[in-house]
Amino acid sequence: MAKDPYLVLARKWRPQNFESVVGQEHITRTLQNAIVSGRIGHAFLFIGSRGIGKTTTARILAKALNCESASGPTPAPCDTCDNCRTIAAGTSIDVIEIDGASNNGVEDVRQIRDNIRLVPSRSRYKIYVIDEVHQLSSPAFNALLKTLEEPPEHAVFILATTEAHKVPATIISRCQRYDFRRVGMESISKLLRNILDAEGVTCSDEALYAIARAADGGIRDAESILEQIISYCGKQITFHDVFDVLGLVDWTVMHRLCRAMLDQDIAAQLRIVEDVVVAGKDLSQFVQDILQYFRNLLVCKTSDPAGLLALPDEDIAAMKEIAGQFTLTTLIRLVEQFAELAKDFDSQLAQRIALEALLIRLSKVSVEVSVDTVLEKLVQLGAGGMSAVVDPAPRTPMAKSVGAAAAPLQVAVPAEDEAPDAEPGVRRRVRVTTANMEGAWQRVAELASGRSLKLGIALAHARPVAIEDDTIVLRFPEEQRSSLSQVEQRDNQNILGEVLSELTSNVTRCRMDAQGMAAVDAPQPDERRAPVSAGTVSQEEARTALQDPHVARVVEVFRGRIVDIKHGAARE
Ligand SMILES: [Zn+2]
Repeated sequence: MAKDPYLVLARKWRPQNFESVVGQEHITRTLQNAIVSGRIGHAFLFIGSRGIGKTTTARILAKALNCESASGPTPAPCDTCDNCRTIAAGTSIDVIEIDGASNNGVEDVRQIRDNIRLVPSRSRYKIYVIDEVHQLSSPAFNALLKTLEEPPEHAVFILATTEAHKVPATIISRCQRYDFRRVGMESISKLLRNILDAEGVTCSDEALYAIARAADGGIRDAESILEQIISYCGKQITFHDVFDVLGLVDWTVMHRLCRAMLDQDIAAQLRIVEDVVVAGKDLSQFVQDILQYFRNLLVCKTSDPAGLLALPDEDIAAMKEIAGQFTLTTLIRLVEQFAELAKDFDSQLAQRIALEALLIRLSKVSVEVSVDTVLEKLVQLGAGGMSAVVDPAPRTPMAKSVGAAAAPLQVAVPAEDEAPDAEPGVRRRVRVTTANMEGAWQRVAELASGRSLKLGIALAHARPVAIEDDTIVLRFPEEQRSSLSQVEQRDNQNILGEVLSELTSNVTRCRMDAQGMAAVDAPQPDERRAPVSAGTVSQEEARTALQDPHVARVVEVFRGRIVDIKHGAARE
């Protein structure tokens, strides 16, 4: 038997008829129809990436053309006659397989030309299978073209290539062209399951999907990975075995990494990277794994992961818990940033996940309310006074805190599921210190904005300056008086208390800094006044408009500028 253990499965499971070729039904059916209706060309061109069934299909086609069980070509070769058996074994004298990479000279092709004139010795057709045909030299292509222009009645060429763009158009135009596809996860999983059952190997569904995913659409890769894993694990394959054999990073490492990110524990994050490097794992693979992981968190956050993630229950539970601690906007931002990082490694996965993140963001557009609508509502509160059209300055602190990530003109209003899942006891609470209080405060503002947008916006204007026992000390810039009064409202105090105890392990309340409104970095009044207007509105007009307290508040909350002034009907 074969010496190379890695070839055993692929050889043993090589499809012997059109029906058993996995994932290329569009091709096998067309070929069978052509045979049945007697429309057999002299040249076939099989295009597609490596390891997805081109050579296998070429051999089956050769059997179909030369099988002795029928009086002519048959869509169902018998597999028992001499021709079928010698073709399957690669020893038929009328079916010649040539590697285009090593026989690429004009002499090689001339020899083919001379030989093909000879009548097949014991078959209907003389068949040349030229693999990697794009590797032929141009004189060789010219010689081949001459043969294809006037092929003898008994000649059939099956040309296969992974790079169709390197095959001259003159050749392509003489061939029937067949484009092989990369094979879907479902088909590969089904094939692997059949093999495992026949080999008497047990394997969890999760492990099976992990192999299929790693094969990335290639049948041969799937089989050789499976072969490797069987020789490593024997008769029982678990999810974690697959990770070991493939050199992937175990997802418990990802869980740890995420928790360290949530805790803003930089030392722990760097230690994890160190561990990965020391363990000899490939960093680009690690980035891909992180990306895949965050993609799964996104799935946990937005859908029921059961049908979408083929993973062990304990991993799904851990991911749900971690996903619950990130806001949706944060997750999307993280996925996009890691996809950006992974792009340097030219990854298909990065592109797919960036696309998915965009789709999820777009499908959440309904929760984004345009700034005009928000302003309209705020101004309506002022009972028909003067209304102002405000152009928000880009990148306001508010936009940062509630995560209006995409369009600066949109205010993201968190949807219900935007708020981290409120499962008591599940959330990991962070101990807030002066070192991490800024980040912690941002999360407090984010979570609060899911319950009261106004409160969230107000909190985003506050800057934590100290931690004293169970109290976080806040400072508001002078122009944010209204934010302060917003925070001081009883209802909002209650929400804030809840949020603090959900997110932190040591802070239960907040108080304003003794310095009160005098923030160190608050802009001076003149600086503040400078940008109040833009467009056709003069500073003078803008200042007049700002005397309306509602307008002033809108400008303040959105840190905007007045670009137009319209007088409402209610104003005499
Ligand atoms: Zn046969």
